[in-house]
Amino acid sequence: MGRASGKVLIGGLNFEVNSFTPGTTGIEVFRAKLYEVGTEMFGDKLAPDEVTAALDVFRDTDFELVPLVRTHGGAGSLMRHDAYLEMKSEFMDALRGELGGCCAVYLTMHGAMATDQLDDPEGDFLTGVREIVGEALPVVASYDMHAVFTDAMAEATDASTGFRTCPHVDFYETGHRAATILLRLLTEPTLRLHTHHEKLALATTAEVHDTNTSPMKDFYARALELEQLPGVVAVDLYANQPWIDVPDAGWSILVVTEDLPELGSTIAAELRSLICARREELRVEKFSPEVALAMAAKAEAGPVYLINGSDSPSAGSTGDCVDLLSEILRQKWSGSALLSVTDSTVVDAAIAAGVGGTFTSKVGGTLSPRFFSPTEAEFTVVSLHPGDYDYIVPAMPSSTGPIAVLRVLDGVKVIATTRKASMVDDTMFTHVELDPNDFEVVQIKSAGGYASYFGIHGELVVPLDTPGPADSKLERLPFQHVRRPLWPLDADAPC
Ligand SMILES: [Zn+2]
Repeated sequence: MGRASGKVLIGGLNFEVNSFTPGTTGIEVFRAKLYEVGTEMFGDKLAPDEVTAALDVFRDTDFELVPLVRTHGGAGSLMRHDAYLEMKSEFMDALRGELGGCCAVYLTMHGAMATDQLDDPEGDFLTGVREIVGEALPVVASYDMHAVFTDAMAEATDASTGFRTCPHVDFYETGHRAATILLRLLTEPTLRLHTHHEKLALATTAEVHDTNTSPMKDFYARALELEQLPGVVAVDLYANQPWIDVPDAGWSILVVTEDLPELGSTIAAELRSLICARREELRVEKFSPEVALAMAAKAEAGPVYLINGSDSPSAGSTGDCVDLLSEILRQKWSGSALLSVTDSTVVDAAIAAGVGGTFTSKVGGTLSPRFFSPTEAEFTVVSLHPGDYDYIVPAMPSSTGPIAVLRVLDGVKVIATTRKASMVDDTMFTHVELDPNDFEVVQIKSAGGYASYFGIHGELVVPLDTPGPADSKLERLPFQHVRRPLWPLDADAPC
């Protein structure tokens, strides 16, 4: 019998680990970004998300959506295990407290966590949920498309689905799909689902994950066509957070069917062939800062976006690469340029100097010293700003701390933030009242998200070849734990 009424519990833990970013991430990072307990989850939203969608799906039913705990720490270094355990136990306590009358669970996850003691926290977390609710209750989870998917995650849930857009703008649609699957499980008495999960020995980076351009656009178009076949519930591609050094790194294909394992397997095989045949298109061509600036100088119209993806905060990096700034200073770049750096010392010096004041300081290169080196510049303070603005993608507080806009050469400005600032959208620029269109060169520390979010493509976008924790040349990074062979670390890896 399908259920006619009952409590549907909702919550989840979200974080994206970059194993090459130094240090560990504590619970304070989650508390500064998104840490919602109980009905806080249903409060005002910066933008519609998975929770909004679940509320909409269950609104006109006799099922009551009950909020547990939902956290999001953004992206960064390995999670401290105690932070994970604290959030897990708070969630599980809330889950036990609402078990009476509970008929289903919806988990909104990211899927790329790792702690200093655990490679697959999501698998551990979902297994813990399943142990508490038992085998009979439906459990559905949704994920970011950069989830590092594992068999444990698939086995603990009845169904999974994830984002199909990069940059990610389908939070609501994903939540709606997941909640609808859950509602079907609750109301269709004979419905049984089967999840087919397979890994690809393939790791790719955000520069090539734009779902508005080929080949990703073609992969998703075919996946969505296959999802329309009778008996198919969800077809998802997980492009994997490539900078997480865990055994299960690599792409995943997930096919959820109405208990049709052979169909799931057939669909996955077709998608595997499609993706693997085009993997060479998933390499990234990059240019040194010197060459990139020369390319920008020749451009007929600006701005030219120099993509510093290896230092992308939204991929977990620290935001303090200054290789482009060093080159601009070295050649005394005569054009106009807008750059950014995470450097609390420089922000403090700017605040001490005041607007119009000048100071000389080292800048950058200290937070990821394995990859970055500082440079030195004379700064003039243009403006000072508090850091209390909100991102659009993903919709959460920036928590950057105070910000200083500094001038280093006549036309060159540097936005210095106390803590790292994500640059998937343009909120940092608007917050400090600067328009990228006023500059010939704009440095973007987002591997692909910013450009694709604003529909900027082609010769206006030049990826910078600099080292960093989010380097697109994965073969340059010191992976130790990923299962081998894995392309491109192993150029001849079977796919
Ligand atoms: Zn993602």
